[in-house]
Amino acid sequence: TRAQINAAGSSLGAGVGALGDLFSRRRIDEDLLEELETTLLTADCGVEATTYLITEIRKRWKRDRLETGEELRAVLKELLAGLLAPLQQSFDLDAHRPTIIMLAGVNGSGKTTSIGKLAKRYQAEGKSVLLAAGDTFRAAAREQLQEWGRRNDVTVIAQDGGDPAAVVFDAITAARARGIDIVLADTAGRLPTQLHLMEEIAKVRRVIQKADPSGPHEVLLVLDSNIGQNALAQLKAFDAAIGVTGLVVTKLDGTAKGGVLAAIARTQPKPIRYIGVGEGIDDLQPFVASDFVSALFD
Ligand code: GDP
Repeated sequence: TRAQINAAGSSLGAGVGALGDLFSRRRIDEDLLEELETTLLTADCGVEATTYLITEIRKRWKRDRLETGEELRAVLKELLAGLLAPLQQSFDLDAHRPTIIMLAGVNGSGKTTSIGKLAKRYQAEGKSVLLAAGDTFRAAAREQLQEWGRRNDVTVIAQDGGDPAAVVFDAITAARARGIDIVLADTAGRLPTQLHLMEEIAKVRRVIQKADPSGPHEVLLVLDSNIGQNALAQLKAFDAAIGVTGLVVTKLDGTAKGGVLAAIARTQPKPIRYIGVGEGIDDLQPFVASDFVSALFD
């Protein structure tokens, strides 16, 4: 909803929101561009995206003879929208049955919460959902999924300890037998530096493919927007291990500055499938670039 996007926007405002003050009642000059550059870097846009934005703005400044801060603001908004628009891509939930969606990410990124939110969303769209508790390390993660499944009448395939790949394999078999539309496969949180765990998650992916040669149909990496530029390192490592096809960017309602999306767009573009804007079950929405950019400024 608009209110939620605005909630995300006001937090983005922590970084880019200084833009309001930056632009108002000012004329464009080198000082203003320098302040803008600092603001973008502080908002987690990263060096590449910031350099791109400032270079483009400088071009337009000369070419279009821009004068006021308000004109600059409009150009920045347009450039950001252009940068983020290609990341707005939904994926087809109807091409396969079951559609197998694998989720990965570091601990605390919001993976388990996002699975609950997605399950609710897909159910609301009339789809049947089955969850695979592929995090066999943390009993708490499994219990969290099971509890969620009980409350919402969704089957959760789980195993006490054991091999995550086996749990996911069982889940796909069960989903097939029951004619389920969507399998959401959780995996244990891991850091990109934990090489044996990265190898393990690569194995989960291979086993999914063994169970269904067309799958996984979507490999979602859950990124906490609060980690700023670290998101890029995580994306790189997970992409190398499991071939990330889409992102869920969480906690955009908090103190995160949101510029990391621009950094991703400029350096490692991946579709942003959903954004998390709160802890509640409904606080997940498809990424809409223009709404997101508006929320940054309004
Ligand atoms: P996991 O370890 O990756 O499975 O992370 P969890 O799903 O357990 O989430 C970690 C914490 O982040 C929990 O307290 C969640 O409620 C919280 N969380 C997840 N997504 C969001 C979000 O979009 N916004 C906010 N504010 N909190 C979130």
